[in-house]
Amino acid sequence: MFPFNRAPCPDRAALYLEQALKGQVSGDGPFTKKCSAWLEGLVAPAKVLLTTSGSHALEMAARLCGLAPGDEVLMASYTFSSTANAFTALGARVVFVDIRPDTMNLDEGLIEEAITERTRVVVPMHYAGVACEMAAILEIARRHNLLVVEDAAQAVMAGYRGRALGGLGDFGCYSFHETKNYCMGEGGALVVSDAARLESAEIMREKGTNRSQFFRGQVDKYSWMDWGSSYLPSDLNAAYLWSQLEIAEEIRLNRLASWTRYRQELTPLAERGAIELPVVPDGCEHNAHLFYIKAADLEERSRLIARIKQRGCLAVYHYVPLHSAPAGLKFGRFHGRDRFTTSESERLLRLPLYYRLEEEALETAVQAIISFYRG
Ligand SMILES: *Cc1c(COP(=O)(O)O)cnc(C)c1O
Repeated sequence: MFPFNRAPCPDRAALYLEQALKGQVSGDGPFTKKCSAWLEGLVAPAKVLLTTSGSHALEMAARLCGLAPGDEVLMASYTFSSTANAFTALGARVVFVDIRPDTMNLDEGLIEEAITERTRVVVPMHYAGVACEMAAILEIARRHNLLVVEDAAQAVMAGYRGRALGGLGDFGCYSFHETKNYCMGEGGALVVSDAARLESAEIMREKGTNRSQFFRGQVDKYSWMDWGSSYLPSDLNAAYLWSQLEIAEEIRLNRLASWTRYRQELTPLAERGAIELPVVPDGCEHNAHLFYIKAADLEERSRLIARIKQRGCLAVYHYVPLHSAPAGLKFGRFHGRDRFTTSESERLLRLPLYYRLEEEALETAVQAIISFYRG
């Protein structure tokens, strides 16, 4: 059986891990510095702090927004639990808005009518590394005085009108989980756009202390300044990530080549109306985070997954929309009508896509789909 995902293992990974083992294994060592400097190159002038996970980056962002219980946060319901958890942990209510059927992203046209006097934050999640309509979202946020936290977990090295995703909002959150394009095992990063918020973010990440300033020689002792936790990853994780960031362009192009190949080979089926293919709107430079197709409905998707599996390949789907999940019912509400979130999520099916995806795996998946629709 071909795997659904495989973590990258660049040649230099073992070397860098050994260097970290013999040098510094705790956080904020030389590899962490290399990775954050590299990521800052993408989102400059914003600052980047490596974190222990994408979920933790979201938690930090949520706390830095200064929310009070009862405040409202807008997001799409078609997302991972972490997008919402970060905010519900602070007593905020999540208000879910319907998605656009073309990109599966938050429908920017529905944000404004969901805003109340309690709304504080909007959280665009860039599904599959395809940007939400950020110009419209940032404009609405500015007019209503909302903060923007980008869940860019899937969007490292993806762009919107020439700018890197994750660096457009007040905060951006990357994930380096093994299922993402670049991987630390477990890890993530917080992008902080406003320099005035950097110090609070550093303190929160270092157990509530100003140790980062101490190490830079800016203060002569460090102490407990505010609430914090341990959000900095081991330099071992950063060493592994660095082995990928230094070949980030090669990884990106390799994934894009597989993505384009899927698209080309499945285009005839889409033209016949049998399936739908992903849409990448103008101005979105996606990063081939994942490749999906849409079947007619839930029942057809189940049969198609079984067929692909029978041919030796794994195909999976996600997410159960949060608003209909037990925690979503408890912590949130859906604003307006669920026209697309549930129905589109039930049709979506992901195909294997990872760095150096084997030709044979890709062909197995494609041929299984073609034969399925042949009858
Ligand atoms: C992966 C992912 C996360 C969480 O990242 P972790 O590093 O696994 O904590 C959050 N949001 C979205 C949309 C994701 O895809």
